[in-house]
Amino acid sequence: MRTLLVSDLHLEDSRPDITRAFFSLLEQFEGKVDRLFILGDFFEIWLGDDALTPTAKQVAEQLKQFSRSGCGIFIMHGNRDFLLGEQYAHDCGAELIHEPCLTEIGGQQCLLMHGDSLCTDDQLYMDFRKMVRNPAWQAEFLSKTLEERIAFGKQARDQSQEDAQDKSYEILDVNQDEVIRVLQEFEVPLFIHGHTHRPDRHLVKVDGRQCERIVLGDWYKQGWYIIADDSTLELRSFEFPE
Ligand code: MN
Repeated sequence: MRTLLVSDLHLEDSRPDITRAFFSLLEQFEGKVDRLFILGDFFEIWLGDDALTPTAKQVAEQLKQFSRSGCGIFIMHGNRDFLLGEQYAHDCGAELIHEPCLTEIGGQQCLLMHGDSLCTDDQLYMDFRKMVRNPAWQAEFLSKTLEERIAFGKQARDQSQEDAQDKSYEILDVNQDEVIRVLQEFEVPLFIHGHTHRPDRHLVKVDGRQCERIVLGDWYKQGWYIIADDSTLELRSFEFPE
């Protein structure tokens, strides 16, 4: 069983280079992996499955094609594309999965999350998260006109950028106690997430057990992915193709 994992591509119409890089990765692994996990913030923003951008349409076509090679595709929500729905996942030949997701990767039980819920030092964000992850709020938002949704999305993005200027480097990273709490709760040796845009592999000791937390990178300047089979796992980056 070979598994490919990516996160935080932040695809959008104004960054065709990222879409191209993603398609080059798909081409490279087509027919060579059994599962593809996309761990959130696949898109920079998601206003509803009834408001697909040209990029979203292209991506659905390519993923559908990729799934025809027999690869299972699993999409998890991030903090930007949490409104991505069943309909779009279906169009991609994919299945929506929800965190916390447990599966075997590289021969080990592994926990998959987007990672934003680990940033518990960022109270402002945790409050926002609680609001927008509420099904009632989401239903109301999706009932608004597209213009209203675009306006909200822009405001949320500006506000988040403004707030980020007042937040320290530490606040925007995962909280170590929360990482340990999660590893204790799920009793897994391996934990993979994205969100922080700080790709790295960390060894964490939990109750005398050696665990590993792997952070996938964002695709702002280069691509990042994990490729694993039954006994090996590698975190790799690559330059965007010309
Ligand atoms: Mn994120």
